[in-house]
Amino acid sequence: MANMQTPNAVRGTQDIIGEAQERFIYVVQTFERISKYYGFESVQVPAIEQTSVFARSLGESTDVVSKEMYSFEDRGGDSITLRPEFTAGISRAFLTNGWQQHAPMKLSAHGPLFRYERPQKGRYRQFHQIDAEIIGAAEPLADAELLIMADQLLRELKISDGVTLNLNTLGDASSRDAWRSALIEYFQTYKDGLSRESLDRLGRNPLRILDSKSSDDQKICQDAPVIDDYLTAEAQDFFAQVTSQLDAAKISWTRNASLVRGLDYYRHTAFEFITDRLGAQGTVLGGGRYDGLIENLGGPSTPAVGWAAGIERLAMLIETPLTSGPETIIIPLGKSAQSAASGVLANIRRNHISADMAYKGTMKKRMQKANAKNAKSVIIMGEDELERGEVSVKNLSTGEQELVALENIIAALQKI
Ligand code: ATP
Ligand code: MG
Repeated sequence: MANMQTPNAVRGTQDIIGEAQERFIYVVQTFERISKYYGFESVQVPAIEQTSVFARSLGESTDVVSKEMYSFEDRGGDSITLRPEFTAGISRAFLTNGWQQHAPMKLSAHGPLFRYERPQKGRYRQFHQIDAEIIGAAEPLADAELLIMADQLLRELKISDGVTLNLNTLGDASSRDAWRSALIEYFQTYKDGLSRESLDRLGRNPLRILDSKSSDDQKICQDAPVIDDYLTAEAQDFFAQVTSQLDAAKISWTRNASLVRGLDYYRHTAFEFITDRLGAQGTVLGGGRYDGLIENLGGPSTPAVGWAAGIERLAMLIETPLTSGPETIIIPLGKSAQSAASGVLANIRRNHISADMAYKGTMKKRMQKANAKNAKSVIIMGEDELERGEVSVKNLSTGEQELVALENIIAALQKI
């Protein structure tokens, strides 16, 4: 075993601790709290699925399916993929478990996802999302409800400054087909200026050219045909209903007629909340209506709409420092005080107050530790005081210190 090297973490993965983890947990907790106000039911779905679940629903020519999936053959010879997103797996679960009988269902989920991407700030190979879906609802009410919920989430996380809701409609199937043909015709004439990637998309999935990150492509896209000229009356009416509900809820939005999402399954509403603070990683939350997806998975035609947001990107935007240190720290002085301290500590925690013990080093060191952890108070347990059944409780923000009888510690802490 000579020269054994410590293995590295897999490229694009992260070990999260400290403040970053505090922000991460805060995002998840805020999401779970807000989803309850909106009547969402929390679900768990597997992190692995049959590869066909994603290949059939996301679209073969999308970036995610064509180059970002972690797929492998398992020991039984099945093709398995680590989930790159939630929607397809939740839709599969909807079919597998016969959840149709409960439709419409409002479902929420969060957890790790995997995409083989070039790692950079805000872009990882294992990342995490919060996700909200309404399955079995064809009405624009569902689209609006999800958007209003997303807006509330960003507000309550206090990261809505500099974030704009970009909204588009991709129309119904016939609007989309007509637009698609017009786009092909248009891009054919600018073929020479397109990036290689977009040339490739032209044959298979021309809408995706509008989503290109190349600046040359983006210039060509500026004059491309817009969906509005191809929308059926029905599709126009659907979009008008979504926007009037947003207006009623005082949600501001901008029309972005070239917004197409990275996946093939979107119909009607498509949206992204974009921040001006994360550069190319500016999309913090995105989603739309995916009425065709469940049918692609072999199920009955089922209207659905949803969104997902990257937890790491939301967490990066949070500015208020979040502290999670213990509320109080016990400092026992001497051996017999130490065992008494264990009893007091247990009692404090059983009363749902976070607490810790600083049992090593000089008094000065231990006080420094309490201050560094941002504790509100310290409980000093000296042997003489203990014999009288008392401890000293010091309020670290005012500096006041008082003698407190052992049985009154909880009450004293609650006052601080
Ligand atoms: P992008 O255009 O940034 O690649 P996307 O269109 O691929 O985003 P979606 O599939 O819509 O993203 O996923 C929704 C959200 O998940 C994104 O807005 C982003 O916040 C987050 N996300 C997507 N891919 C990654 C990644 N590799 N690392 C971290 N977060 C990600
Ligand atoms: Mg992507």
